[in-house]
Amino acid sequence: MDIGGLETVVANSAYVAARGSVDGNAAATMRDKKMRAKLFLPHIKQCEHMKTTVDSTFDSMCIRQPIGKRLFLQYLDSVATHKASCELWKDMEDYNISVEKDRKQKAQKIVNKYYDSASKTFCKFLEEKAIARVKADYTNIRNDLFKESEKQLLKHLETSALNGFKQSMYFLRYVQFKWLEGQSVNEEWFMDFRVLGKGGFGEVHACQMKATGKMYANKKLNKKRLKKRKGYEGAIIEKIILAKVHSRFIVSLAYAFQTKNDLCLIMTIMNGGDLRFHMYNVDEKNPGFKEPRACFYTAQIICGLEHLHQHRIIYRDLKPENVLLDDTGHVRLSDLGLAVELKPGKDKTKGYAGTPGFMAPELLQNKEYDYTVDYFTLGVTLYEMIAAKGPFRVRGEKVENTEVTRRILNDPASYTDSFSKDCKALCEGLLEKDPMKRLGFQNNCCDELKNQPMFKNLNWGLLEAGMLKPPFVPDPKMVYAKDIDDVGAFSTIKGVVLDNKDTMFYNEFSSGNISIPWQEEMIETGVFGELNLWPGNGKLPGDLDP
Ligand code: ADP
Ligand code: MG
Ligand code: MG
Repeated sequence: MDIGGLETVVANSAYVAARGSVDGNAAATMRDKKMRAKLFLPHIKQCEHMKTTVDSTFDSMCIRQPIGKRLFLQYLDSVATHKASCELWKDMEDYNISVEKDRKQKAQKIVNKYYDSASKTFCKFLEEKAIARVKADYTNIRNDLFKESEKQLLKHLETSALNGFKQSMYFLRYVQFKWLEGQSVNEEWFMDFRVLGKGGFGEVHACQMKATGKMYANKKLNKKRLKKRKGYEGAIIEKIILAKVHSRFIVSLAYAFQTKNDLCLIMTIMNGGDLRFHMYNVDEKNPGFKEPRACFYTAQIICGLEHLHQHRIIYRDLKPENVLLDDTGHVRLSDLGLAVELKPGKDKTKGYAGTPGFMAPELLQNKEYDYTVDYFTLGVTLYEMIAAKGPFRVRGEKVENTEVTRRILNDPASYTDSFSKDCKALCEGLLEKDPMKRLGFQNNCCDELKNQPMFKNLNWGLLEAGMLKPPFVPDPKMVYAKDIDDVGAFSTIKGVVLDNKDTMFYNEFSSGNISIPWQEEMIETGVFGELNLWPGNGKLPGDLDP
């Protein structure tokens, strides 16, 4: 074995070992004790001033932020008059992520416990109409059975419990955690492992947050290369958009900081490689996917697109290469560097962006466009998963971009026998040249698309809860990335001088810890539980700052 090959083997085994150790909640064993000790809650005197400035809207603090929600639930549980609401909330959430065969029984229990006026735990705030509807319908398996009740529950809690929460020691605890969240981390907090891939401005490495043991991907953007190749705008857009969206179908951003030479984005690690790699490099004699597998990935991509579009973001660069698998075989969209957010009051944008062979006709014609372009790229992607070639390209063909553009504008795609009737119909609906007629995002959702015959056997509720079993699970010992040598090195950048304006940009970029993913990390790795101690629970009363 040559030295390069050996280097790959050594790097791979360190990375596979680190990866394995974080499975099954063993992250704690991989933590760096010295760094873990730096995660502590401040004395309340040190952060009391934040009580009035911290984000304390009901929706954000009590629902969206995972630590805020946990503390709010703990508060509810501690107050006799809120206990039943607290349990109803938990039981409804449990129902929503239950498999179908358990649902009827769970619904029955909920109805008996909270919907029956004779029950001790009857929830009076539920409106009669909602009660009647649930009672009439709970024997049918439905995803939205408790939707209306949940709305009423949350409204009730906002009016009756929010103020009490803010007066309680649980809110002070929330403030302590928000202080900790506000303490930005830097490169010292992360240990780099092998390179996972190469981007336009730097490498992406596997890395581990030393204090918690959680594995992430570190996308590095070299400052000088970024400046030389005018990458600032794309970089900041990618950062802002990634920090804004929170979906299990899009990679999330947990930290953004800078080092001497790089800007760093610490993101969800996707260990399973990209769809392109799986289509062509895993079983080279049988490229592409069988339909059930393509159907599963397409459904997850649709959920990712729907989330982006609900946040007024157009992705523009959907293609197999940008869809990444995690350890369990679920996929997420990545590489949002070409995405664009529609300006307030505007519902269209313009501009040439994307990958040749994928771009929609309206974009190629330099017309104004909106989310429709992403459903065309979805059509190209689905077609390629089945046919193992693009719809506008012959396999292995060397062809000019202008010719590909001509074909996208004029030629229909042709379908072989590998396409079922339903799959062909879906591709045609997505590859429709007229954006008005194309399948896509309507009435703020993708329901029309989700109801296409291709998905007739798919349980969208389970899929959206991340509970549908993937058709393929990556081998945990396999490294789905190129050998280190093949990743290729970057040339050194000469003649770029960084000035004050650059520094200002880097500071804007380095906004620190991103609330929701940071809080998720603390909970997932057990750090939240270790810090959130109360008297009689491992902490002496005198230690309890609130
Ligand atoms: P660029 O925007 O410069 O193209 P990408 O975001 O596409 O950079 O990242 C470059 C490569 O790094 C990808 O093709 C992929 O192989 C790898 N990569 C990117 N993000 C992740 C991630 N979250 N997990 C694992 N690998 C990743
Ligand atoms: Mg890329
Ligand atoms: Mg990019």
